[in-house]
Amino acid sequence: MSTREGSLEAPTRHPLDWKNPDFYNEDKLNHELERIFDICHGCRRCVSLCTAFPTLFDLVDESSTMEVDGVAKADYWKVVDECYLCDLCYMTKCPYVPPHPWNLDFPHTMLRAKAIKFRKGGTGFRDKLLSSTDAMGKLASIPVVVQVVNASLKSKPIRKLVDGVLKIHPDRKLPEYDSAKFRATARPRSDFAVKADEKTPGKVAIYATCYVNYNEPGIGHDLLKLLAHNEIPAVLVEKEACCGMPKLELGDLDAVARLKETNIPHLAKLAREGYAILTAVPSCTLMYKQELPLMFPHDADVQAVKEAMWDPFEYLMARNVDGLLKTDFKASLGKVAYHVPCHQRVQNIGNKTRDALQLAGAEVTLVERCSGHDGTWGVKTEYFDKSMKIGKPVFRQMAAPQPDYVSSDCAIAARHILQGMGDSTAQKQHPITLLRIAYGLE
Ligand code: SF4
Ligand code: SF4
Repeated sequence: MSTREGSLEAPTRHPLDWKNPDFYNEDKLNHELERIFDICHGCRRCVSLCTAFPTLFDLVDESSTMEVDGVAKADYWKVVDECYLCDLCYMTKCPYVPPHPWNLDFPHTMLRAKAIKFRKGGTGFRDKLLSSTDAMGKLASIPVVVQVVNASLKSKPIRKLVDGVLKIHPDRKLPEYDSAKFRATARPRSDFAVKADEKTPGKVAIYATCYVNYNEPGIGHDLLKLLAHNEIPAVLVEKEACCGMPKLELGDLDAVARLKETNIPHLAKLAREGYAILTAVPSCTLMYKQELPLMFPHDADVQAVKEAMWDPFEYLMARNVDGLLKTDFKASLGKVAYHVPCHQRVQNIGNKTRDALQLAGAEVTLVERCSGHDGTWGVKTEYFDKSMKIGKPVFRQMAAPQPDYVSSDCAIAARHILQGMGDSTAQKQHPITLLRIAYGLE
């Protein structure tokens, strides 16, 4: 068998074999973990990506044999718990991914371990609560409740109490909830003529996402303004639930399957009617572009949705190639420090957000490193300090140009970066909002 360094063939990804009973066999998992940990120990390329790899290498280096066979199997979980499934090691670093015969898929092996832990009941209440974004959003955005929740988020004594009970770090700046939910207040315009061209469908369906729906509806409203300005007819997805990414990160694959059953019929209908489906949260986009198709490789509806799913800037810049994007920008954005989130990087679409901001006249500083927030990981008390440490180079690079705006397609990463930048006077704005400002739209 060839063990050449890297592969000349394009990387591919095998479906997640989660229906196979062996997937949940802990002995077989440990065998696979030992195999891939041994390859990683000999390679060490990913040492600076996250804290999972340094944890692994420290365990090996401090073991009696200084090899993986000297590491206790119980300590493997320390590595698993440090992985937040950003996918960067697979998509940007690893030369041993399929079709290489070593067939190494580090993130999906971590996912398998998390799934086993979840099924064994090893997942705590806090993690289950944090991954229930839809249920939390529905509750927290009820009028009156929303004021109490938002006041609690800002109150130091209450945050200390929450930290004691739930282990959510008191210093982590958390997003507030909005009682005017996006889906309830959005007025998409579908009255424009459909102009499709070579690269782009001429009509758009918006999958709101929990974050935009409950926390920052303004991002969704601004997306609708961009579409209306460019005379692109838009509708909302008729019914939606959480995409399932937070449940996936927890290893709760049955919950992912249940959410898929809610979402996919509505999305597949739109896909077959020729809509481009846009989501303004890269992790949710990735869920439909990659994770669900790998979990359900033979589901025609899931595959149809995969083909119809677009990152908003991927869509707008393709629209520009089609000659159908307006470039009548009126307001100057000045200097924008822009961070590319991991879950957008691994979509392999290129830096379309940066391109759009530059098209709008912004002076963009591009920062392409993990910010360290990673979904709910950086919120947890035990990972907060590590998350701020991983983010340090990003905070420094984002602050260097003394920007007017700090921006990331991932709104929670942008909040984390601004927190890490300390006393910066820059404004945090989502790139969709920046484009709306550049167009001079109210
Ligand atoms: S998926 Fe991300 S967090 Fe997990 S090991 Fe790879 S780089 Fe680290
Ligand atoms: S995931 Fe691949 S590139 Fe990263 S340390 Fe392991 S073998 Fe090396």
